[in-house]
Amino acid sequence: MSYTGPDFDPPPERRSRRGPLTVALAALVCGGLLGWGVYAATGGTDDKGAETGGSPSAAPRTPSPAASSPTAGGSSPSAEGEESPASRTPSASAPAAAGPLKGKVVVIDPGHNPTNVKHTAEINRQVDVGTHRKECDTTGTSTNDGYAEAEFTLDVAHRMRALLEKQGATVKLTQDRDRPYGPCVDERARIGNAAKADAVVSIHADGSGAGNRGFHVILPGSVNEGEADTRAIVAPSRALGERIAGNFVRVTGTAPSNYTGGGTGLVTRKDLGGLNLSTVPKVFIECGNMRDSKDAALLTSGAWRQKAAQGISEGIVSFLRG
Ligand SMILES: [Zn+2]
Repeated sequence: MSYTGPDFDPPPERRSRRGPLTVALAALVCGGLLGWGVYAATGGTDDKGAETGGSPSAAPRTPSPAASSPTAGGSSPSAEGEESPASRTPSASAPAAAGPLKGKVVVIDPGHNPTNVKHTAEINRQVDVGTHRKECDTTGTSTNDGYAEAEFTLDVAHRMRALLEKQGATVKLTQDRDRPYGPCVDERARIGNAAKADAVVSIHADGSGAGNRGFHVILPGSVNEGEADTRAIVAPSRALGERIAGNFVRVTGTAPSNYTGGGTGLVTRKDLGGLNLSTVPKVFIECGNMRDSKDAALLTSGAWRQKAAQGISEGIVSFLRG
């Protein structure tokens, strides 16, 4: 139902009614997540069925200073750098602090890799994701000004790591600019599995059409084919995704997607290897649409990225605390 072939790129579903969105927001603000009338949207998003990679023709360029906006707050002292000092430490190997998440393992998967663009042959290699074969990884998208999704995902991941380690969690990243490309989507899933993660979140930003705005969380659909068996993680992943969506709205003030998910901010997919091969609760989040100028203004703001990291992290904390 929600399968989207690797090369099929359905036009984004534009929503013209605002009613359901308003209802969804009201439910979120009121904390009515458990009663949140979510329905699993069908169909893929607009990322060509790749691992939320945006348009292959939209290879990201190196971020330019012009793509950044001035720091306007947030808890990071240097929000506009690729990494703030606060977001760089402590490392994943540091002893876990005391806190409510002591003993919990969170894996953060920063989507794509800034140097994937230099390794197209390697990332185009097909890997088995259980239901089908697809590219090892993709370059990801970028804003029209050249701020790469792969830089965005790493920045948000670092900010999340700092926040979650303060809560006592053990945090691991699937990649941290420490390899020339990838990892491949199957390996990204296996890193979370091997860590016996209590929660995994893959960070992305979308590459959709101008006017398409907002975030959405992608949940694993139920698949049982080849190496893919998500049956045990569908329910806990949905719980994780709902907590993340609710907290993301609350902290960032950003509305759920107006082009997919029917205003709920939640989309179920069965074509993503990173979800299909996961044996632990896992979701993706598309934090916004890099190709929309208004969303891009948010995504390039360090202050907003701090809020995004906080919203996602607080959703994880809420999920893990039950
Ligand atoms: Zn992506």
